[in-house]
Amino acid sequence: MIKTERVLHLKSCVGRKVRVVREHYLRERVPCCSSLCQADCVNDGKLLPGDLTHYVVPDVAVVVDYLEILEFRELQGIIFTQTACQALQNKNRRYYNRLRTLVKDPRHDCVLFANEFQKYAYCPREKGESQEKWQTRCVYSAAVWYYNHLAGMMNIVMITEDPEAVAQFSSLTCGVYVISVQDYLQSFWSDLQAAHELFSSISQAQQETEGDDGEKEFPEHLPAEVLEAGIKSERYIQGTLNVNKHRAQNEAFVRPKNFSTKSTDLTWDVLVCGRKNRNRAVHGDEVVVELLPKNEWRGKGTALTDGDEKTGEDNESTPLPTGRIVGILQRNWRDYVVTFPTRDGIQSQSRNSQRILTIPWDQRIPKIRISTQQAEALQDHRVVVRIDSWESTSFYPNGHSVRVLGRAGELETEVQTILLENCIHILPFSDAQLREMPVNSLEKPWTVDPSEVAERRDLRDSHLVFSIDPRGCEDVDDTLSVRKLPDRRLELGVHIADVTHFVKEGSLTDLEARSRATTYYLADRRYDMLPAILSADLCSLLGGADRYAMSVLWELDAESLEVQEVWYGRTLIRSSYQLHYELAQALLNGEQVEVLELANLGPQERDSKVAQLTEALEMLTHVARHLRAKRDRGGALELEGVEVGAQLDEERNITALVPRQPLEVHETVAECMIYANHWVARKIQEAFPNQALLRRHPPPQQELFNQLVDTAKAKGFTIDTRSNKALAASLDRAVDPQDPLVNRLFRMMATTAMSQALFYWLFHVTRVSRGVVSGKAPASNKEVEEMAHHINSKNRVRGAAQAAQMRSTALFQCLFFKERDPQTDPCCVADAVIYSIRDNGVLVFIPEYGVKGPVYLKNKEGLVVVARQDGSCDWQGGTVRKCPDRITTTSSCGTSTFKLFDHITVRISVHSSTCHADRLNLEVISNKPHHSAKSQQPSPQGRSQLVKEVVRQNEEALAQEKTARRPKLSKEEREFRQSKTPSLYSILEEIRELALMDLEMASRLPATTA
Ligand SMILES: [Zn+2]
Repeated sequence: MIKTERVLHLKSCVGRKVRVVREHYLRERVPCCSSLCQADCVNDGKLLPGDLTHYVVPDVAVVVDYLEILEFRELQGIIFTQTACQALQNKNRRYYNRLRTLVKDPRHDCVLFANEFQKYAYCPREKGESQEKWQTRCVYSAAVWYYNHLAGMMNIVMITEDPEAVAQFSSLTCGVYVISVQDYLQSFWSDLQAAHELFSSISQAQQETEGDDGEKEFPEHLPAEVLEAGIKSERYIQGTLNVNKHRAQNEAFVRPKNFSTKSTDLTWDVLVCGRKNRNRAVHGDEVVVELLPKNEWRGKGTALTDGDEKTGEDNESTPLPTGRIVGILQRNWRDYVVTFPTRDGIQSQSRNSQRILTIPWDQRIPKIRISTQQAEALQDHRVVVRIDSWESTSFYPNGHSVRVLGRAGELETEVQTILLENCIHILPFSDAQLREMPVNSLEKPWTVDPSEVAERRDLRDSHLVFSIDPRGCEDVDDTLSVRKLPDRRLELGVHIADVTHFVKEGSLTDLEARSRATTYYLADRRYDMLPAILSADLCSLLGGADRYAMSVLWELDAESLEVQEVWYGRTLIRSSYQLHYELAQALLNGEQVEVLELANLGPQERDSKVAQLTEALEMLTHVARHLRAKRDRGGALELEGVEVGAQLDEERNITALVPRQPLEVHETVAECMIYANHWVARKIQEAFPNQALLRRHPPPQQELFNQLVDTAKAKGFTIDTRSNKALAASLDRAVDPQDPLVNRLFRMMATTAMSQALFYWLFHVTRVSRGVVSGKAPASNKEVEEMAHHINSKNRVRGAAQAAQMRSTALFQCLFFKERDPQTDPCCVADAVIYSIRDNGVLVFIPEYGVKGPVYLKNKEGLVVVARQDGSCDWQGGTVRKCPDRITTTSSCGTSTFKLFDHITVRISVHSSTCHADRLNLEVISNKPHHSAKSQQPSPQGRSQLVKEVVRQNEEALAQEKTARRPKLSKEEREFRQSKTPSLYSILEEIRELALMDLEMASRLPATTA
């Protein structure tokens, strides 16, 4: 080892320049991370493959400015030098973290080389040499070292944006090429169009960043050390900026990171009003606020708004702690979808036509200025952009475009927008991942491995296994079985595809599945965690096919249904029937239906098979009812999520919105899955006695339920939120026999409040876990923190998946109404229930379509809605008066009152928006209920009637499909018809992650009922 000295010029925290001399150790052996290594380097971890045409070594400036391009997975054999990494660390923390993730990720073919520790690669800085020149020399020297170290078996390409370096080094060493980024992309990746576009976009943005001189639009941010001291002394508050979507220009909140500080006694968010006070912070940024004097505190607006903030007459609630942002600790900028303005918009913009103001889809994000020469071609298009900077002299942030999604308003563009806006990045599975997959083709059919048969319990002949899924579903994640045993016993079985057999822990597919974390379901499609060969074939428990499964088998007493014995294990199954919900329900109802699997049998044999299957379904229903009753006694909380599926025709036009059908068999299947989940969790708990599972709803938090409690009170019901059990019981009691919707509305409100409570609960768990561990060795402290972080981020992923699902439902709702004329189409008139009263209108729920939204009773012109004798409504000059449970409008013609839970008639139209999502516009046309054949609520005794109706509708749809003469569904169509039940892989993942929680931690949590 050789010792040298290295002189560093660092900036101290108060801004002084300090000269530091560090001892620097050089070694002969530093891992090269190449599979071509001839020198026995100790290479553990990622290796660069040997079968590439070249390795590429990016210069410092390339890493700093063009990391986004190096992030393309197509680029292979990238060597990041320590020199470049350190430079990035000093320049841009956010990107440095991205680089670290990149190097760790085995799906990216890149490694880190510690060139400054390598005796022969390191070169000391020469007198008078600029830092940049020296760094470039270091990188070149590293490139040469690689060429020699690998004995000339691999060409090395160094990429740099310094033309002098190209001139100086390009012909210095044979086998080591030095070229510019642009030349590199053109010669090696000419087909990678996306990279070329991104390159020109970034370089364009870089040329434009200078010259933003002029007057200051915003106060400067305070230096980091001042912020830090201020937070410590509690003069400033640190938190995350949350912009109010409905008042994005004016209203934002900072949620304090530490909930209550000693002196300020802040338990809630700090209000930040106006753009000056927001001081260039963007939604999601980690900011530092200073409280304003109390006489400058403001309240938040309480009126309904549609995003147009110039309405003026906006009431404010009582003043809240109000502040201004003095600094930003961490930018949390992500990729944003923006819309480019139309030609008119471009021409009216500024003298410089190459800098375009684009409007983000997310209203909470400010307009972003993009430098581009393609403004003309991109008008009306949605484009993904990144923000680069926001100077105090600039009214808007500057950014660059990343890629084009498509024309605004087109289905594909809109769906991609929703995914991106929820930070869901789904890349196709790579070749390397697919190489891990088994093969099942006509030439090479997949078969059961005899060694697996020996190790598994074979249920193929002993058990009648069947699946129940939505109609047309092609991926069967779970199957059921039930049979009578001797000695008055029943056996219930749940069998789930054994994904772990095919996806080994730590494999590329496993990593990809983990990073997807969940399967994303949108209204019309899903994105799977696993490649199609698994999700749609080998891990789909198809009828008649041998499949590996994981099973739970319960032996129950036939009378009491108490569990006598449970067996868990790997099995081999062959499902006999692939049923859909409607068919299973029809069999249960004793109807004459055709079972596809029995079509070729003689009548006698068929009848006996049908009888056998029906008996099994009846037994299953019986057991599920029992399980459900037991769960109810324990205080199970039934929450209401409004789910709507979209039915599409061949041209992808939406023909109907279908609310989830209330068949009992849905509940039966769900109940069995919940039961399996519960027992698997128990098993894990037995196996790891020190770890507890916390698969429970959090206890209700009083204030979050205020709206629910107040609304129920207006109807004469008491909602008890002291525990989940009390809440469940009081929700069960809050039933209006005249109007089944009342209870559904209460459950919807409870669901919303519950999901908020979950957020606070997780926050609490994190804090409790920190408290618990602080008494122990400091090493485990970090562990728990990491775990809490993991849980939180997992939770965020699920939140994003859910948000995306909701947005896509809204998208389909808008598409459904867009093509219809609201004045003439009867579909556009619907019954709505008032569930909340606001200053200038009401919030309503439309059960027929599962739509929630505002209905204005006073408009911007000051007109109010007045109802005539027959109920029909009109706009006239007048006033509104709001009470807790009603709102009254008064004009010269008289007064009209709208009460909570009133049914009114609304007209639905679409409010189109080029830049943001379209949204539905609801207008009251009568203060009386709307009666039409379609909006009739199914009464409980009408259930089987409804089943018939649904089956009939579906059959018709199927018949239509047949007449279209398409024997086999296209891949695209199959995507539209997949199931929604959670796969075992995700359940197991969930359990595995929950099992991480410490028992001790669980015991300190407030008691929950489950
Ligand atoms: Zn080596």
